[in-house]
Amino acid sequence: MLLLTAALVAVVGFWAAERTGGGRVLSAGPGVGNGERFEWKLVTTWPKNLPGLGTAPETFARLVGELSDGRLTVRVYGAGEIVPALGVFDAVSGGVAEMGHGASYYWKGKIPAAVFFTAVPFGMTAQEMNGWLHYGGGEALWRETYAPFGVVPFAGGSTGVQMAGWFNRELTSTEDLRGLKMRIPGLAGEVFTAAGGTAVNIPGGEVYTSMQTGVIDAVEWVGPYNDLALGLHEVAEYYYYPGWHEPGAMLEFIVNADALAALPEDLKAIVRDAARATNQDMLDEFTARNNASLETLLKEHEVKLRRLPDDVLALLKEKSDEVMARLVAGDPMARKVYASYREFLDAVRAYHGISEQAYINARTTVLGDPVPRSEE
Ligand code: CA
Repeated sequence: MLLLTAALVAVVGFWAAERTGGGRVLSAGPGVGNGERFEWKLVTTWPKNLPGLGTAPETFARLVGELSDGRLTVRVYGAGEIVPALGVFDAVSGGVAEMGHGASYYWKGKIPAAVFFTAVPFGMTAQEMNGWLHYGGGEALWRETYAPFGVVPFAGGSTGVQMAGWFNRELTSTEDLRGLKMRIPGLAGEVFTAAGGTAVNIPGGEVYTSMQTGVIDAVEWVGPYNDLALGLHEVAEYYYYPGWHEPGAMLEFIVNADALAALPEDLKAIVRDAARATNQDMLDEFTARNNASLETLLKEHEVKLRRLPDDVLALLKEKSDEVMARLVAGDPMARKVYASYREFLDAVRAYHGISEQAYINARTTVLGDPVPRSEE
């Protein structure tokens, strides 16, 4: 393998020399490194190999290995193997692991502005988030937000619009939220609490047991593909949509800044582009698999699918505005990120109103309503 790498480096160096007319083979350029090998640990907030969320870091690790010809090896650890699920950020910040995969809103207690990089209630879809992060200034703000912690973030996949969650009783009005204890992280958790419930954050590996033992009455996790894998239909009867709270939940790859800086330029580019490729791949996978999983949930497991009542959605929107106002008033970085987020959302809505939304409306008009109905 070393010989092969050396041969490749020589070929690249020769090509570079030819291109610049230098005529001398200088081996690799300064950005390509000297064949030094790096071994990184990647810790995640997910159970190892959980479909969708947990396969993304494995995909990333495979891509990095292939693209670098083994010069950078990334070993993936599930939640609890090196650090607990919610210890991932601190582990990467402190250099216990070079990388992490999780969701930025888990760190909101430490970094209030982090919530914008996962999901905002009634905010952007996956497509819009990708546009904002990569072409609307979002990623630069994300880096600025994490810079004081020595952590560099990259978009790490999106689930698309999530489901509103699993409930052990039916919601018929806003009154039914009162006293309900739900696993729901991020800003949405604060909104849920303001609406009369009680929000808690519990890592994915513990939500099933928490529902089963009655520690919580409701749980939002992701959507049909992921929720079926966790077996949530076994611990709750009602499955609600739409995912008002996470309309395009974005995951993150985080990298220890010193570890990233120590890489030669070509390996830095491989980390960046493998993250970008994995980011898109996750959305593709959820898009392809959610439908079949929903069918299984409804037909084989007789899950009761319900839409959140309009008055519940209206209350959640009202409380979302209050929670957002409090957040931006109390944290300068949150105020700065929200200004950018809001500006992009308003602009992209203007076009999506006559493109994505208008098209889907028109398609429904001619093809009929596609929503599978278990509601009688
Ligand atoms: Ca979620």
